[in-house]
Amino acid sequence: MYIDIYYMDNYLSIMAKTKNELMITSGSEIAIIGGGPAGSLFARFACEYASKRGIDVNVTIYSNRQFSDAGPKGCKGCVGVVNERLNEKLKQAHIVMPEEMIMQTIDGYHFTSKGGELYVKKKTKVDDIVTMFRGNGPFCSPLSGGFDGFLLEHAKKMGARVVQETIRNVIFPQNEREKITVENSRGSHQVDLLVGAFGIRSPILKKFQETGYIPPQTTKSCLIEIDCGEAYIEKFIKNTIYIYSFGIHGIDYGIMIPKKRFLTIGIVGKNANMNKLHNFISSSLISKMLPENPTICCQCCTRIPVTNAKNPFSDRLLIIGDAGYSRYYKNGLESAFISAQIAARAVFESGISKEAFEKYYYPLCKKMFITDNLYGQMLFKLNHIISSHEILSIAHMDIARKDERKGHQHLDDIQWKQ
Ligand SMILES: Cc1cc2nc3c(=O)[nH]c(=O)nc-3n(C[C@H](O)[C@H](O)[C@H](O)COP(=O)(O)OP(=O)(O)OC[C@H]3O[C@@H](n4cnc5c(N)ncnc54)[C@H](O)[C@@H]3O)c2cc1C
Repeated sequence: MYIDIYYMDNYLSIMAKTKNELMITSGSEIAIIGGGPAGSLFARFACEYASKRGIDVNVTIYSNRQFSDAGPKGCKGCVGVVNERLNEKLKQAHIVMPEEMIMQTIDGYHFTSKGGELYVKKKTKVDDIVTMFRGNGPFCSPLSGGFDGFLLEHAKKMGARVVQETIRNVIFPQNEREKITVENSRGSHQVDLLVGAFGIRSPILKKFQETGYIPPQTTKSCLIEIDCGEAYIEKFIKNTIYIYSFGIHGIDYGIMIPKKRFLTIGIVGKNANMNKLHNFISSSLISKMLPENPTICCQCCTRIPVTNAKNPFSDRLLIIGDAGYSRYYKNGLESAFISAQIAARAVFESGISKEAFEKYYYPLCKKMFITDNLYGQMLFKLNHIISSHEILSIAHMDIARKDERKGHQHLDDIQWKQ
């Protein structure tokens, strides 16, 4: 018995040592699947860590989207609000969005429910809340570049290599000492670390389930871009984001966001589809806000995560951004930033074994996303119950209005800071 325990202890310490040797060192190959915000930001932080540690690593981003394309081809399908904390974090990381990319600087939110309307002015001063396009803008008016292309270029400048290819297959070895292989139409690449930043709609998701990974559950969302002209937006919409919550079964909320001459209008929820969005736009509530015969420039339906992934890491593998952990219905771009930053730090400081990720990556994510999401889900459920009952909704709006009149920052904090 004594001998068994002795051998077991010894075995564990040898195993721990072997696992700890799974580290990023000079010559290591890091591949990232996905050149969206999470992928580009991870690459950027990885290059920074490597340079600070004086190690020479090869960071390759495999990106299958041409962000210079206008319309849905170049765009992931997102309303494109950069909250003030993300704006601040980007600037602190010396990632400053060019002026021409910023479509609008937001002053406040306008809420509409069965209980009435309420305008909440932005009082917090962390930074600007801005709107932008992820790709190259709507079909009718291509821009000179959007947010995702800008982040990818930034990663390139920091030293990452960008390969415009779809990863079609991944071979996970049986033994953690062997490398992972990623395959595209031009060949294969053996990597010491694979970072999955492929979002929630990629066919490659299935392959990762071999490792025990379970992707986040998702709900639907449909968006439309309307060209209203800059003068119209300035006069009637101003720098305000409109949020609609009516407690309609299967539609969690509607949203309207100004972007210079465009308005992005969307609905989110398990019953969202293009028909429902068109009905929403022609409802008196929305149509009164639009010019006569509005020009629809672009439209798409997409998905948004509503739970976190399970087991988004194993030896030599880390899955981040929407595909990993993100905050419930909130600031997915900021989640992408945070998860990329935490991931890069864990990789360079603690190694790339499953145990290291469990010990150093997961606890931080749990704090940032997992616990937070429980509260987020409860708040949304509560809001749904309130919004679907007129009397509750009126009472809720009354309390919110009083709070706003007294100049309290509660709503402001929930909206902008949490
Ligand atoms: C309707 C909607 C509105 C939203 N609005 C906001 C908002 O206003 N503010 C906010 O902060 N967040 C918002 N979000 C959330 C935000 O869009 C996401 O959180 C964010 O895009 C996540 O970034 P990511 O890099 O993890 O994934 P993605 O942005 O999805 O990027 C994944 C990338 O990987 C690529 N890819 C996939 N598979 C492969 C492959 N096999 N090979 C190569 N490349 C591959 C994809 O083409 C894509 O470019 C919104 C989301 C939706 C759906």
